[in-house]
Amino acid sequence: MAELTSVNVPPEQHVMVLGGQGWIGLVDQMGSEITVVNAARVSFGKFRQEMNERDVVLVKYLLENHHNTPLEHVVFTFLVHCPLFVRSQWHRHRTWSYNEISRRYTQEDLEFYVPPEIRQQSADNRQASLPAGGDFDQLHCREIIRQQNAAALAVYEDLLSRGVCREQARGVLPQNLMTTFWATVDLSNLLKFIELRASEHAQWEIREYAEAIKTLIKPSIPNIASVAGW
Ligand SMILES: Cc1cc2nc3c(=O)[nH]c(=O)nc-3n(C[C@H](O)[C@H](O)[C@H](O)COP(=O)(O)OP(=O)(O)OC[C@H]3O[C@@H](n4cnc5c(N)ncnc54)[C@H](O)[C@@H]3O)c2cc1C
Repeated sequence: MAELTSVNVPPEQHVMVLGGQGWIGLVDQMGSEITVVNAARVSFGKFRQEMNERDVVLVKYLLENHHNTPLEHVVFTFLVHCPLFVRSQWHRHRTWSYNEISRRYTQEDLEFYVPPEIRQQSADNRQASLPAGGDFDQLHCREIIRQQNAAALAVYEDLLSRGVCREQARGVLPQNLMTTFWATVDLSNLLKFIELRASEHAQWEIREYAEAIKTLIKPSIPNIASVAGW
């Protein structure tokens, strides 16, 4: 939690995910729903401070007809704490701007994600997983992951103690290492991200973050959220 405090994200502006091992904070924001309306109406030279009923209809029209450019005037910055494999999926979204903690500079506070619930491999979809059956040994599998984390950390620290540079030693750290990054995106591209990553086709771990983003931004875009169905 130290990073959250250091960038001053108040508790009401961040959401814990992954059974309390990850989190996402809303660090900054430019604009809200009325910004979208004003951008869309600029052609008529109109400007409003608050939404009225006609504006709600306009927002619905814009979304349903994929008239997305007015959404680009609303921008959000998030601080994300997630496993490296979630980071990899997230950074495929090229329209975001990112800055990430560097393991070339830092070697302290390494954390590893242990799934709160282990899932089993789907037999008919190579990308999908299923809730584990009742006879599945959750505890043992979680313990194996913990042991692997400890072993990787021990090798990493051993390499550092022998004078190996951080930028090479980090190569032994696993995909479930937690990382932290800043991410900035406009509302149009954020809605695309949510559609893809809150979907049941996406991995549960990144879905957690997409759902948390809905919670964080819904207060400033209630009608857009309603049209989007969340
Ligand atoms: C369930 C799921 C499974 C996936 N599985 C895989 C996988 O197995 N392997 C894999 O490699 N990836 C995989 N991906 C990632 C996927 O292919 C996309 O890279 C990712 O979803 C980002 O989508 P995007 O390109 O639309 O987003 P962004 O990069 O944010 O782009 C948003 C939009 O901007 C436009 N745009 C951005 N860049 C360009 C460009 N250079 N040229 C033209 N238009 C552009 C497009 O309209 C695009 O839709 C998966 C994604 C999901 C959601």
